[in-house]
Amino acid sequence: MTDLLIIGGGITGQVAALVAAEAGARVTIVDAQRNAGSHANAGSLHVQMQSRFLRLNPHLADNLESSLPLYLAAVGEWEALDARLGGVELTREGGLMLAETPAQLEFLHEKAGREARKGLDVEILNRDALHALAPWLSEQIAGAELCRNEGKLNPLVANRKMRAALDALGVRHVHDRITGIEDGPHPVAHGARAYAADAILIAAAWGAGALAGRLGLNLSTPPEPLHMNITEAGEYRIHHLVQHAERPITLKQFRSGQVVIGGGWEARTATADRQAPGIRKTSLLGNVALAAQIAPGIGGLRVLRTWAGYNTPVDGKSTIGPASHGSRVFFALPGDAGYTLGPITGRTAVSLALGLTPPVDPAPYAPARWRA
Ligand SMILES: Cc1cc2nc3c(=O)[nH]c(=O)nc-3n(C[C@H](O)[C@H](O)[C@H](O)COP(=O)(O)OP(=O)(O)OC[C@H]3O[C@@H](n4cnc5c(N)ncnc54)[C@H](O)[C@@H]3O)c2cc1C
Repeated sequence: MTDLLIIGGGITGQVAALVAAEAGARVTIVDAQRNAGSHANAGSLHVQMQSRFLRLNPHLADNLESSLPLYLAAVGEWEALDARLGGVELTREGGLMLAETPAQLEFLHEKAGREARKGLDVEILNRDALHALAPWLSEQIAGAELCRNEGKLNPLVANRKMRAALDALGVRHVHDRITGIEDGPHPVAHGARAYAADAILIAAAWGAGALAGRLGLNLSTPPEPLHMNITEAGEYRIHHLVQHAERPITLKQFRSGQVVIGGGWEARTATADRQAPGIRKTSLLGNVALAAQIAPGIGGLRVLRTWAGYNTPVDGKSTIGPASHGSRVFFALPGDAGYTLGPITGRTAVSLALGLTPPVDPAPYAPARWRA
């Protein structure tokens, strides 16, 4: 028997494992080794409300807005992790959300007011101020919201260093897919074999819904297949994380000079014969064409690689805590922008499981809202 069994070895489960192992617990991670968002993501540290999410899910705007303090804590958690892992190319030079029309700028103005009331460091930039700060932007951009809390990191480096840190602490990794859970004083997870533990933590993103159903929770976690691109290296000029108020684009430049381009363009859901999500040609062409319109200087760079992965946005709010009062099965599911939120979500959930003081108040994120 292990002290803590973690289902899901993405960034959320890994940080939970790190915290637990550092506290002296014996930890096993069991992972299906398929379609982790953590292995597909773009490394943006999001804090301001993403207009794409608001546009697609207007009914979930309150969930996103009430989670803003968690995003601020999440960036602090990543900074601590950057130091703990010996550097993951994290920079916090701020994020720009771009506007092309007066109506878009007005939308950002109103959004920035709400965010400032939640403690975010935001400012609306007019055309001159914006182009002085980001001279590589197209002339068609009329202004932007600058959020100084935002940043970026290199997920390839972070994932590699995280795995090495867990190996050094003796965390056990098992390849299996969990299909059932029995709750109790010593809960048991069932896959190809049974795993008993003092506590189980579900950090399985798109796989969490099926497990939650067995615990009486009506939590649905449909995966959202998304498209990404990365270019060859160019001169390092784009220091900010860049998004648009209305158009589907995020872009950022790694210190290597490579530009990572995404923004929610759709990919194909995995099928039985292809276990990973597939690329849509229209997304590849539309996404990079839009990027070159926003930042014309990158238009000459060749795209080196495109890929697709599973995002799991759920209801725009993290789910953190025991399945029910007194349960020894805990959830650690980040809300929208789950790579940003993964470490704080994992640390908070595992603190509850181990009886440690959580870094944030978990009450607003309790799984109780999913009780049918
Ligand atoms: C293309 C793309 C770009 C993104 N870009 C960003 C970004 O820039 N910034 C940001 O903040 N977020 C981004 N995201 C979102 C982010 O990647 C995810 O929300 C985050 O990585 C989720 O981490 P996780 O550890 O909770 O889950 P995951 O990393 O998804 O890991 C879950 C793991 O659980 C395993 N699993 C599932 N079911 C079971 C089961 N039953 N038994 C055993 N194992 C199971 C899976 O195999 C997987 O390994 C992006 C997502 C995508 C797809």
